[in-house]
Amino acid sequence: MLQTIAAFDRIGEENAFAVLARATALAAQGKDIINLGIGQPDFRTPEHIVEAAIKALRDGHHGYTPATGLLATRVAVARRTLTTTGVEVSPENVMILPGGKPTMYAAIVMFGEPGAEILYPDPGFPIYRSMIEFTGAKPVPVPIREENGFAFSAEETLALITPKTRLLILNSPANPTGGVTPRAEIEKLAKGLEKHPHVAILSDEIYDVMTYDGEQHCSLLQFPELRERLIVLNGWSKTWAMTGWRMGWSIWPNSDASSHLYDKVRKLAVNCWSCVNAPSQHAGIAAIDGPQDAVDVMMKAFDRRRKVVVDGLNKLPGVSCITPKGAFYAFPNISKTGWKAKKLASALLEETGVALIGGPDFGVLGEGYIRLSYANSEENILRALERVGNFLAA
Ligand code: PLP
Repeated sequence: MLQTIAAFDRIGEENAFAVLARATALAAQGKDIINLGIGQPDFRTPEHIVEAAIKALRDGHHGYTPATGLLATRVAVARRTLTTTGVEVSPENVMILPGGKPTMYAAIVMFGEPGAEILYPDPGFPIYRSMIEFTGAKPVPVPIREENGFAFSAEETLALITPKTRLLILNSPANPTGGVTPRAEIEKLAKGLEKHPHVAILSDEIYDVMTYDGEQHCSLLQFPELRERLIVLNGWSKTWAMTGWRMGWSIWPNSDASSHLYDKVRKLAVNCWSCVNAPSQHAGIAAIDGPQDAVDVMMKAFDRRRKVVVDGLNKLPGVSCITPKGAFYAFPNISKTGWKAKKLASALLEETGVALIGGPDFGVLGEGYIRLSYANSEENILRALERVGNFLAA
């Protein structure tokens, strides 16, 4: 057998994809599966966005595009950033990539190496830790606690910084918990980070407009003192139901002194994926500049389902669930059911046909929790809750 470098043995997985594969296999055998596992909106990409891609293809946009993205796409992102955050960014600092994940990869490989430490949320999106391990850096989990509404704590985060810390990864609104970190906490963190100028920040804001109950997303971009060491990850996947289009963007530091980071990610793009396909980028512009009614309709549906999920979960034996303030996930505490989380998730899929994800797939502190994505119809959510309830009561 060919021997690859050790780094490849350290790469992890996103178990949501494995659960999806198992759920699909069971469905193919004729089982009635309700999928609350995968983190993608169950809505179609709005029609005017699809049309923009078709038009781009018909107009002959078939070739390579610039490695950093079409200027028009970057200008659209800068315009949207001003609308959502009030912060002016230059299109020169905006990078278009094939999805949200490549920004994660770029930022982590830029700062991770043996001897370095990288802070990441636990429970959190599993790829953070996987990529940190890949680089040989030491993954340092920042605990995300239920009693804190699944927001990160500035104090706890700051206390974990050492002279070896190279990168701090933040995510709000968060996957898998739906937690939204309040502005006051982020202000505290920004203040504390002034004492640690050697730490770069990757802020994953892919769920930025997916908040509820009047909760406002606070972007790290709103702290000018952090701007020179801040990378913001965002993208089209969630907001406009475009997970399969592979369209993401990131915003990189803007001074001459730090524009070398942008140049590095540009070179990485040239080496790895060259560019993002033109029709998707034209679709991306239409998404940003076109009507947002479809996003509003989707968010209203998510909000209704969120209430159905939380109410239903809190009625199940041994289960309690706080109300998530963002994204489209609920992260109920199942520790009083007597089940280990991954075992429960697996038994629920095999025995009741309900697909969801065990909390430990998002980090060791995910034990005692499961993640439900409410990107499914209210009817299916209610059917799933009934099945889970019957299973736990049996
Ligand atoms: N960041 C977070 C927190 C996510 O939950 C996801 C997808 O689930 C991503 C990034 C990746 O997004 P994309 O599918 O655009 O690569």
